[in-house]
Amino acid sequence: MPKPDSVIIELAPSFEVGAKQALQDTQLRRNMGKATQTIRAKRAAVVDEMPNWEELREAGERIKSDVMRNLDTYLVQLEAAVQRAGGQVHWARDAHEANQIVTQLIQATGSREIIKVKSLTTDEIRLNEALHEAGITAIETDLAELIIQLANEKSSHILVPAIHKNRAEIRSLFKKAMNLPDLTDEPQQLAAAARRYLREKFMTVKVATSGANYAIAETGSVCVVESEGNGRMCLTMPDVLISVMGIEKILPRWQDLGVFMQLLPRSSTGERMNPYTTIWTGVHEGDGPREFHLVLLDNGRSDVLADAVGRQTLHCIRCSACINICPVYERTGGHAYGSVYPGPIGAILTPQLVGTAHTSSLPYASSLCGACYDVCPVRINIPEVLVHLRGKVVAEKQSHVTSIVDPENIGMKAVAAVFANPTLYELAQRSGQIAQHFFVNEGYIEHGPGPLASWTKMRDFPAMAPQSFRAWWRERKHHDQES
Ligand code: SF4
Repeated sequence: MPKPDSVIIELAPSFEVGAKQALQDTQLRRNMGKATQTIRAKRAAVVDEMPNWEELREAGERIKSDVMRNLDTYLVQLEAAVQRAGGQVHWARDAHEANQIVTQLIQATGSREIIKVKSLTTDEIRLNEALHEAGITAIETDLAELIIQLANEKSSHILVPAIHKNRAEIRSLFKKAMNLPDLTDEPQQLAAAARRYLREKFMTVKVATSGANYAIAETGSVCVVESEGNGRMCLTMPDVLISVMGIEKILPRWQDLGVFMQLLPRSSTGERMNPYTTIWTGVHEGDGPREFHLVLLDNGRSDVLADAVGRQTLHCIRCSACINICPVYERTGGHAYGSVYPGPIGAILTPQLVGTAHTSSLPYASSLCGACYDVCPVRINIPEVLVHLRGKVVAEKQSHVTSIVDPENIGMKAVAAVFANPTLYELAQRSGQIAQHFFVNEGYIEHGPGPLASWTKMRDFPAMAPQSFRAWWRERKHHDQES
């Protein structure tokens, strides 16, 4: 099956290019450093107070693995349960199909405006742009998303999309967009201005779209978690609600929510409990929207599921703990990843959704330090997937005709031949030990020769030991025999 069009990568430059640009922005680095350090500390404090945190992580991993193994069954179960409760289910193979379904549903209501609760999935399919082309205006109601929309920018963090903006920047955006010349940068004033602006929309717009954090297969219930209450307004006040959900967001049983409602808030915002959790099951006379549509989106997820190593990526609950801990993300921010999914999760999810051919630099956007794996509440082995994807990138490169003259390819093949032959290996080792005398400084090679030069430009290479383990072992055996 062809990969979905690169809707989430939108012809972005490679990570190296994006990162270089981002690193020149001192304000951005300052904002990012401060914000990620604060969230990290909050998360660490609330996780440390849970004696059974590891058991919870294991439970989360087990539930998600079961979902992946039986996804087809659970999806059909979910569809039947939603329909039983009066909702309608739509299946979308890709972004184009999902956008078409949502647009037609909105057009059927006659509305030219919709309100939106923050949703990464709708960002992934670029719903706002598709609606705009159809003459429909989508109004973001999450405060951070509203900031990003008014600034006409892209989000840089999956949980705090405006993490790269400071108060002064937000004030000048609101001043202009809401016509408030006297607005200060006090958080209360900024929040009050946004509230006034959004209240009017909540009271008048009749259609809303949302994403979904979870959907329960056995009951057909859909759950959205958020911090401001704006989402609750979106989900309960309009006449028609359309939720777009990736097929992997399913949970088999109601009781599974208990595990994830403990894992998610502590890992994401560093809170013990989520401030606003809205769960609804179909439609109910006199309570909430009169029409509910659930759009189940594939958009490359079936391909991810088919990959035995990459599959674990679909366990992700979008908590952003891996993003906040990542030393690479902290310095570059989210825009460098060129996708709605930044940081370590973006580095493994985006290449799998759109193909490594479009995103060959992303699996390298990591130092492989493993901090992301340590904090992931559902134990996704991100470094393992990164290495797996790097292998795919190399294989793809090698399958290309010009690879015959690729110096990296030639070098790797030569190294493989030397490593496969003990005599050649020891000879190379000996030559290296002699040659390094010209380059070693206090135990490190700081300026390597030839192709090593670009590697050592950024890092120091530890000098080789004066005697190899094999030579030492031989010497010892010889000594033992003689004595
Ligand atoms: S990969 Fe793990 S840590 Fe990162 S966002 Fe997903 S669930 Fe959270």
